[in-house]
Amino acid sequence: MATATVTIDLNAIRQNWQKLRTISSKDTAAVVKANAYGLGVKQVAKALYDEGAKIFFVATAEEGAELRFILGKIPEIYIFSGHMIDDTELIKNHNLIPLINSIDQLSRHSELLKEKKFGVQLDTGMNRLGMEPMEWEAVKERALSLNPVLIMSHLACADDPKHKMNVTQLNTFRNLTNKINIKKSLAATGGILLGPEYHFDLTRPGIGIYGCSPMKDCLPVIKIDIPVIQIRDIRSGETVGYGNTWTSTAKKRIATISAGYADGIFRVTGQKTKLYFEEIGCPIVGRISMDLIGVDITDLNVEPDKLELINSQQTVDKIAKCAGTIGYEFLTSLGHRYNRYYKGVSK
Ligand SMILES: *Cc1c(COP(=O)(O)O)cnc(C)c1O
Repeated sequence: MATATVTIDLNAIRQNWQKLRTISSKDTAAVVKANAYGLGVKQVAKALYDEGAKIFFVATAEEGAELRFILGKIPEIYIFSGHMIDDTELIKNHNLIPLINSIDQLSRHSELLKEKKFGVQLDTGMNRLGMEPMEWEAVKERALSLNPVLIMSHLACADDPKHKMNVTQLNTFRNLTNKINIKKSLAATGGILLGPEYHFDLTRPGIGIYGCSPMKDCLPVIKIDIPVIQIRDIRSGETVGYGNTWTSTAKKRIATISAGYADGIFRVTGQKTKLYFEEIGCPIVGRISMDLIGVDITDLNVEPDKLELINSQQTVDKIAKCAGTIGYEFLTSLGHRYNRYYKGVSK
């Protein structure tokens, strides 16, 4: 079989969530948007629910409806994008909680789903989603009279603990929610690590559950194995791959492995990245193709039938860095072609 395998360790996911829960002052939710950061919302959300997570966040009402189908009636499911036109039926039928982020959305929700729960999303400086302080002042009384169940905001720079934006947003959030006796939430993974003053009533970790930076001391969650299709010996002066971008300077042994940029191994990942056989790292040579990558395996004294892209030596954070990106983007770019194998599925 030429299909590469992502092994997803649900026990590591459970333990990472428990760790975030231990650090958090009060309740801890789980963010499972974008198919649980690409790792499979069905398996991941179930594992977290069985582990005690009862509050979930997703990006869209469609994701919320899917999650409701997976987890059943009990958990609270919040929708970051709020109540968009055409979301009404989904919100109603699947008992979702939109995080209202504008006066327009507040009007829509109060007209169409007056009796249905909602939360409020405030913008404390990121300028992405949520009501601005002025808008909030204008509708605060009306919004509070409708009994929102949560008030939240999101930090722009929480992955950098020294950034002064963190304190600025914290103070803005405090001012905007002062004397309001409703559940409050500000921190995602980065915010949890900033300290308890950022935690309020509910934290919303995502990436830390999935074992990546800015979370510290978490367990790695994925491993990637890629089958070797062919092995050949080349002479000094021969080239490998499209565009002849790499020329061998000696006799080399080249393995062609079965994955490429269609599998989220970005072309820019290039030659800093290695494929591993046990402890030995073998560099990528030549351009990464859609489905294939050349690897210099001259240093191996075996002919491997597969090589590892992600393992304890080359973590998601490390390969993301090689590609000039972050773990979030690597995970959500893995694509549909992998054989996904789940370790630790509960009976
Ligand atoms: C994605 C997201 C989170 C989770 O963030 P992580 O950095 O992955 O922990 C929390 N809150 C909001 C508003 C988000 O968009």
